[in-house]
Amino acid sequence: MLIANRIDATHAILAPFFDPEMPVTTKPFSFLPLPDAMLSNLESLNYQTMTPIQEQALPPALQGQDLIAQAKTGSGKTAAFGIPLLLSLNHTNRRNRRGQTQALVLCPTRELSTQVASELRRLARHMENIKVVTLCGGVSIGPQIGSLEFGAHIVVGTPGRIKDHLRKRTLDLSHAENLVLDEADRMLDMGFMEDMESIIGEMPKKRQTLLFSATYPDNIRALSSRFQHTPQFIKIESEPEQTRIQQSFYLTHKSSRMEDLIRVLQHIQVSRAIVFCNTRQMTADVAEFLDQRRFNALALHGDLEQRERDEVLIRFKHQSCSILVATDVAARGLDIEALPAVINMELPRDAEVYTHRIGRTGRAGMSGLSVSLLEEKEQYKLERIFEEHDLPANLDQADTLKANAGFCMLPACQTLKIAGGRKDKVRPGDILGALTGDAGIPGTAVGKIDISDFSAYVSLDREHADKALGRLINGKIKGRKFKVRKL
Ligand code: ADP
Ligand code: MG
Repeated sequence: MLIANRIDATHAILAPFFDPEMPVTTKPFSFLPLPDAMLSNLESLNYQTMTPIQEQALPPALQGQDLIAQAKTGSGKTAAFGIPLLLSLNHTNRRNRRGQTQALVLCPTRELSTQVASELRRLARHMENIKVVTLCGGVSIGPQIGSLEFGAHIVVGTPGRIKDHLRKRTLDLSHAENLVLDEADRMLDMGFMEDMESIIGEMPKKRQTLLFSATYPDNIRALSSRFQHTPQFIKIESEPEQTRIQQSFYLTHKSSRMEDLIRVLQHIQVSRAIVFCNTRQMTADVAEFLDQRRFNALALHGDLEQRERDEVLIRFKHQSCSILVATDVAARGLDIEALPAVINMELPRDAEVYTHRIGRTGRAGMSGLSVSLLEEKEQYKLERIFEEHDLPANLDQADTLKANAGFCMLPACQTLKIAGGRKDKVRPGDILGALTGDAGIPGTAVGKIDISDFSAYVSLDREHADKALGRLINGKIKGRKFKVRKL
């Protein structure tokens, strides 16, 4: 299966992570008592009908009820809490520039916080003067303090950094009557319980608390009973995913594992894939090896600096990198659209980790491939996997796979990095404008555009990338010159 290489520019700007196969119900948003402006904004985002979690969570959440919602990634949670949260913002406060913080969204990772913040900004496009600030670790605290000085109506971030701000008194949550715990189970897994307690302790007792979690273990129950008032419980059953994923397993040898990986790629011939490894060192080795063999790859592991991590992901999402080689920890929580294939360079010890890995493919009604390589001595790991996925215990030798020796994976796009971002008021439309029109780059050659605080990233069809780079270097964006380079 091939994923379209060419991304429609308008669509990309409207919806950076839009998944056309996302399951939706038949109920339009107009079933809800939403202001017209919100409805027309949702329409402009191409949100026609609600997703199941939105259909169930929005009515009680709009009435101010506390909720525990069990739903997995990609189910549309952000709008499920974002719409009620935005509508409950107090208008008087919004008019005053130094707006008090009225809502807090806690997320387990920086990536998720960034995604939530950008989705909230999109949902608030029609509302004037709403400031959403992200506060996460991994970057220096100074600029964050600066952006808080002018007030932030909505704060999105990770518990550790938010607690730091509270301690420094650079953030005041005493008027924040909306609290969202996004992916709460993961925050507990990551040891954020104490930080969460001390943060929630600084919020008003009278507030709305919406808790989202993919699982519902005892510690989530306990968290809810401490911080919520008679919450309504909502559970969205996820369909069993493995049925749509074709799983195969091949025996390899220590000395031929790398070559066998190439053989697998030349057998399945997909345009994009994620390759899982068990260690950081292995991800680096595999990515380097693949890259030398014209299988364009980048490693994603815990040793990377935050900015490097972000840029690897951007390049992968922009389709300017074909293969992501990742450890499990680094891949946790990534919002990557369903991929045509997942490859296990090594099998994880734990069957649950395996299940998690292969869930990256075959999502939302699309079929996917999972291919695992293992040495004979790793066979013990298979038993539980076969059991859990009800698979025939079928194992072939990797060197029997038919390979198309000419096949390689060079990316369809090239990402350009512009040294100006949200803080410079650079918006996607400005970049698109600087490239198209007189500059002569066709709109269809421009793909996704991502804007962070200090940088912007734009994806271009490869054949237009050099020309686009020249146009951006010699031209202006918003009347200003910015440094631009290939990422
Ligand atoms: P989650 O937080 O559950 O992982 P998100 O809120 O990030 O999911 O939503 C996943 C993607 O689906 C986002 O790109 C979002 O813009 C899109 N989306 C959300 N709700 C709808 C909808 N009702 N119709 C179409 N797309 C939607
Ligand atoms: Mg989310």
